[in-house]
This record gives sequence, C-alpha cells and structure tokens, in this order.
Amino acid sequence: MIEMQDIWKTYANGSHALRGVSVLIDRNEFVYLVGPSGAGKSTFMKLIYREEVPTKGQISVNGFNIGKLKPRKIPYVRRNIGVIFQDYRLLPKLSAYENVAFAMEVIEAPRRLIRKRTMEVLELVGLRDKHASLPAQLSGGEQQRVAIARAIVNNPAVIVADEPTGNLDPDTSWGIMHLLEEINFRGTTIIMATHNREIVNRQRKRVIAIEEGLIARDEARGEYGYEI
Ligand code: ADP
Repeated sequence: MIEMQDIWKTYANGSHALRGVSVLIDRNEFVYLVGPSGAGKSTFMKLIYREEVPTKGQISVNGFNIGKLKPRKIPYVRRNIGVIFQDYRLLPKLSAYENVAFAMEVIEAPRRLIRKRTMEVLELVGLRDKHASLPAQLSGGEQQRVAIARAIVNNPAVIVADEPTGNLDPDTSWGIMHLLEEINFRGTTIIMATHNREIVNRQRKRVIAIEEGLIARDEARGEYGYEI
C-alpha cells in the first residue's frame, strides 16, 4: 500500500513539481497516471521508488515512511519496488539473462536461486529462447520484456512504469500491457504513467490525472480524458 499525505516537491531550481498531493493506492491496484508533460507524473513516481524525497509531507510504501528512511535501509525498500522506463535502460554489454540475474546478484540472492528464478521470469515474458542475446540484438518490445523481467525478478510488491510503451508500436504496446496485466493479476500493484489514450480508454482502470502538481482527477474506471 502507498500513502501520500500532503506531498510537496520543490526542486533546487524552484520548480514546484508537486503541490499538496494526497492519495492512497491499495495493494494490487492498477493505476494509470495521466497528465500533460511537466505536470509532475515522473516526480510522483520517483518519490515512490525513493529516487527523490518530498520537500514536505509524508509518503509510506508498504508501511515504511520512505521520506525519512535511513540511507542503509534504502536498498531494502527498493527491492520491493520494480521500475520500468520508456527507454528500457538495460546494461548494453550484458545478455538478457545477465541483465535480469544482475538484479538478484545485487541483493545477494543464492546462486542456485538466481539461475532458477531468472529463467522463470524470462519464460514468463516469453524470452527464454533469447536469454543469451545482447540488448542490441533484441527489438524494442523484447528489450522492454527484459526490463519487465528484471523489474519483477525479486518479487516486488509494487511496479512503477514511466511510459513503458512510449517507444513501441501499437501491437507491441498491447503485448506489453497484457504482460503487465498478468503481473498485476498475480498480485503486484502497478502504477503506470502514460500518454497512450487508446490503452487507458480500453482498459478502464483507475486513472489519476496530475496537472500542475495537483491531482486533478481520480476515477475508479477512468478515461484518458484529454483532447488530442
Ligand atoms: P512529467 O513526468 O509529468 O512530465 P515531471 O515530474 O518530470 O513531470 O516534472 C514536473 C516539473 O518539475 C516540471 O516543471 C519539471 O521541469 C520539473 N522538474 C522535474 N525534474 C526536475 C529536476 N531534477 N530538477 C529541476 N526541475 C525538475
């Protein structure tokens, strides 16, 4: 569960990215974050995975007050949150397998478990046969599948995805969406920022619209809502 109470975020240059945001996201929800560029969506997500800390207000993720976390506790909270980016962010010199396994090595998982679990998640994302390929040898959709495998390999409670379909064609995007739905169905909370009107309008899930650092709309079975 994620709880934000009157969250303000002002960057060093004086940008007021969030201006009093309060929200509750329950275990196992699927939430679309929509809103114009610069509205504060990435900042909202960065606070959740503790890339940024709030200027004011409280945020808790799975019961941890993460704004006030001691530095040595950060890795423990991060391992419970998988992050997916528009540009995949794979390590270019590592194979698909090594990119995923690396996320388990970082948390010092036992070697045998790493091999088993890495192949299991590569299977889940449909890339077992391409485990030895380097990112450059994979299509955009395949690279995003590797990134998803990496995000879920440590069984996080929450996945945060910042425009995960932003660089992909419509068919490939739907493949990625079905995969995220499957992961959500298996019990992971998903928070996804997107500008993809078609996906949001067809899925009819919770939609939180952020505008100028405020929650402008929060609907249980929402729509994208902005004119083209
Ligand atoms: P979105 O993801 O909706 O496009 P962001 O959260 O990236 O919005 O940005 C919200 C506001 O905060 C924008 O005005 C942006 O320029 C500003 N901002 C974002 N990140 C930084 C940063 N690291 N330093 C200074 N200003 C930032």
